[in-house]
Amino acid sequence: MLLISVALPVPLPRCFDYCVEPPLAAQIRRGCRVRVAFGARELVGVVVQAPFAAADDGAEYRPIIALLDDAPLLGEELLSLCEWAARYYLFPLGEILHHALPGRLRQGQMAQIQSAEAYAITAAGRVALTTLSDRARAQKTLLTQLLAATQPRAALAATAATLKRARAQGWIEVAAEPLPHAPDTAARPTPTAEQQAVLEQLAASHGFAVHLLEGVTGSGKTEIYLQRIEAVLAQGAQALVLVPEISLTPQLESRLRARLGDGVCAYHSTLTARAREQVWLRARAGRAQVIIGTRSALWLPFARLGVIVVDEEHDTSYKQQEGFRYSARDVAVVRAQKNNIPVLLGSATPSLETLNHARSGRYRHLRLSRRVHEVPPPKVQILDVRGLSLDHGLSAPLLEATAHHLQAGGQVLFFLNRRGYAPVLLCHTCGWRAACAHCDAHMTLHRGRNVLRCHHCGAQQALPQTCPSCQTRTLLAIGTGTERVEQALANRFPQYRVARFDSDRITSQQALQDQLADIRSGRAQILVGTQILAKGHDFPNLSMVGIVSADQALYGSDFRAVERMGQLVTQVAGRAGRSGQPGAVWLQTHEPDHPYLQMLSEGGYRALSEALLDERRQTELPPFAYLALIRAEAREAQWPMQFLQAVQPLCQGAGVSVHDALPSGMERRAGFVRASLLLQARERRALHALLARAMPQISRLPLARKVRWSLDVDPYDLM
Ligand code: ADP
Ligand code: ZN
Ligand code: ZN
Repeated sequence: MLLISVALPVPLPRCFDYCVEPPLAAQIRRGCRVRVAFGARELVGVVVQAPFAAADDGAEYRPIIALLDDAPLLGEELLSLCEWAARYYLFPLGEILHHALPGRLRQGQMAQIQSAEAYAITAAGRVALTTLSDRARAQKTLLTQLLAATQPRAALAATAATLKRARAQGWIEVAAEPLPHAPDTAARPTPTAEQQAVLEQLAASHGFAVHLLEGVTGSGKTEIYLQRIEAVLAQGAQALVLVPEISLTPQLESRLRARLGDGVCAYHSTLTARAREQVWLRARAGRAQVIIGTRSALWLPFARLGVIVVDEEHDTSYKQQEGFRYSARDVAVVRAQKNNIPVLLGSATPSLETLNHARSGRYRHLRLSRRVHEVPPPKVQILDVRGLSLDHGLSAPLLEATAHHLQAGGQVLFFLNRRGYAPVLLCHTCGWRAACAHCDAHMTLHRGRNVLRCHHCGAQQALPQTCPSCQTRTLLAIGTGTERVEQALANRFPQYRVARFDSDRITSQQALQDQLADIRSGRAQILVGTQILAKGHDFPNLSMVGIVSADQALYGSDFRAVERMGQLVTQVAGRAGRSGQPGAVWLQTHEPDHPYLQMLSEGGYRALSEALLDERRQTELPPFAYLALIRAEAREAQWPMQFLQAVQPLCQGAGVSVHDALPSGMERRAGFVRASLLLQARERRALHALLARAMPQISRLPLARKVRWSLDVDPYDLM
């Protein structure tokens, strides 16, 4: 009897064997999809081991229901990457493969590239257009459109049925797929001396190498990507460009397309299922030459991958924080290594992990220290607000500077990483605070909708007019969010318009584009927003940045809080002064002497990151140690801790320290009580050996059925 081993999308860390008859067995290869019975269900899985002879042990196997591909859908390169990820993240291979396939292919649909062919009108079609009755509206519209010019399928509104009928009548014919418009080499600027040096180093490197491209915003990093990709395309290979968030993609995508031609495809979650499938198949066939996409684009198949670019490599959105918890940046490096190709990690504020690799020489450190247009990057100036009266969180000196810049015709940006009006609603009479019923957290006051909302579980309620506890009307909004700053500035500067950028205001790509257009055209002069503003947008007329507060990061228990604060402040500061004049950046604080803030102000992100690296070394935290976090949650309070206490003895191993199980910082969220167990090791290998041994034992614990639990390898936060 012949068996195949199949990876199925089930939360079990193993593959499943099915039997196949000899004539079919000859067609089945690793990487093909099959439909199989699993319990009472039917599932689509991927063959990971081609037919092999069963051991003669009397075991019984179910036959497969159908073979779905006559050639492997998943190539060896992607399959082996997924297998690596399954081992590294100790996550079921079947679920990773499920993640890697677009929805339609997961469901077992035929893998077929839709023709991107064009249609042209025939002589018969021209005649028909004059004789068709008005009732044949769809046909007339189609023919009229084609009379003007031959059109690619995508440009036609006609349904498949309309096209089919017109073809059957001989009114239209298929024209050749229009040639992708060729790269525009004339648009390539002459590299600056610094860029030239970087390009030469890149050109001199062959095979696998990780290049950290560190450069402030506007220093010409994107130009380096473009020229590297041009070189890769010239060799007939493909390029993958990862970007953190979709809000960044349109700008970069159009820039890539203008320079590199129509072979540039975007891949992200807002595409339709059909479009995602088509990009997937085109990448696999080598017809999509450049893919620009978010985290999930990392799992696209490529015919011949030549380079990977990870833009804003420090960005936390590269880490998937639920389900399959992987870091797209880290897996990108592994993929480049497997393909023996270079990977470029670009950032103005590299992560400490990446900086450390660069320090140790494992990664090559390429620097662009100057802005192309010769404006020095702005210096962050500390504004001591102790003892100053604050108008909704804004000090008088900050407001004066704002007035000055606005009068001079500049634009001013206010950054704070907190949306809503105020984070706390407090009763001045009795001390009552609005708390979430499902989380250990305060409800945030949102004035725009007059609600209290929990930012952790989404619970919402109408804003009370009187205190629910003592019925007085003495409710106070404590603290400052973006809505409040927006309102304060609108009151203070009524002659200027304020545009707010946060996830309450920016609910669609269109909303973002509209707000950005208002800023670029000068219709709005003041920007208020959260980290959305830190991301790559270009504001040519911005002359001042005010950081409303960054103090929270200084007190937080999150070991990455200061790193992240430094990155955000530097990125936001980098928006200022891009068109000829240096910008002013003010950071309000109650901790003006705090060494981290001093370093950031005096030496910029580089000085701060060096100090943080030294500190991480002393405290044995990443990148000087490897972490894994086991999280557990349950509705009943006792189970998470009991489960983790049972896990703890299973995690003893040489070279790994196991911390005590701890309730999470915010213990209750969305009705679940949460706890976690931290494992820490100096050697990655020791940690992985232990996890590989312990995971099956943990799964078998009876308490494992009382909780929802997960393993996070290289966790981003320890919450
Ligand atoms: P970054 O990606 O580091 O923010 P960009 O590559 O976007 O930098 O460059 C910043 C600006 O300078 C862009 O408008 C870009 O078109 C322009 N630019 C980049 N390199 C050059 C060059 N060598 N000559 C002229 N302009 C350049
Ligand atoms: Zn809540
Ligand atoms: Zn009260």
